[in-house]
Amino acid sequence: MASQEIEALTQALARLPGLGPRSARRAVLHLMKKREGALLPLLAALRTVSETLTTCSVCGNVDTLDPCAICIDPRRDPTSLCVVEEVADLWALDRARLFPGKYHVLGGRLSALEGVRPEDLTIDKLVARVSQGGIDEVVLAMNATLEGQTTAHFIAERLEEQPVRLTQLAHGVPVGGELDYLDEGTLAQALRARRPIG
Ligand code: ZN
Repeated sequence: MASQEIEALTQALARLPGLGPRSARRAVLHLMKKREGALLPLLAALRTVSETLTTCSVCGNVDTLDPCAICIDPRRDPTSLCVVEEVADLWALDRARLFPGKYHVLGGRLSALEGVRPEDLTIDKLVARVSQGGIDEVVLAMNATLEGQTTAHFIAERLEEQPVRLTQLAHGVPVGGELDYLDEGTLAQALRARRPIG
């Protein structure tokens, strides 16, 4: 039996996505064995992130900077904007530098079932951002779920008057697929084959 403190750490880790009790115990053992090499750097990284964590006021990304690292990156194409449901989708697309432009995080998807209305998402903010000009293409990279597609069509209508090209991911994205779970090859394919929204 481990002490209460170690048990608490194990339980906290076991609640993380992708970890269970068994992996959590292994992680704790590793951290205890490698105090200098693993435990202390992890502690420092957790503390720094926890103290500086913020939501980007421009795009909705989660970062330690506001505006976030992506928004202030001068190498990114500001004329191309990719709209995603969640921060996890942004990170999935950005992991392999698949998309050269900037992002907009909606904070979810429209859902009658869950009572998510347009005003619960950052749709107004997106329209305002596009209205400011300077954006040529808006990629609606919603998940290939019914709710994701409903959201994409709603946004397409809201942006109808704007002089921008609206595209959406090709359905190399499997139906019902969540971007976050796709491998980079499939995501890259969906992005390359993106087509005008119809
Ligand atoms: Zn940002």
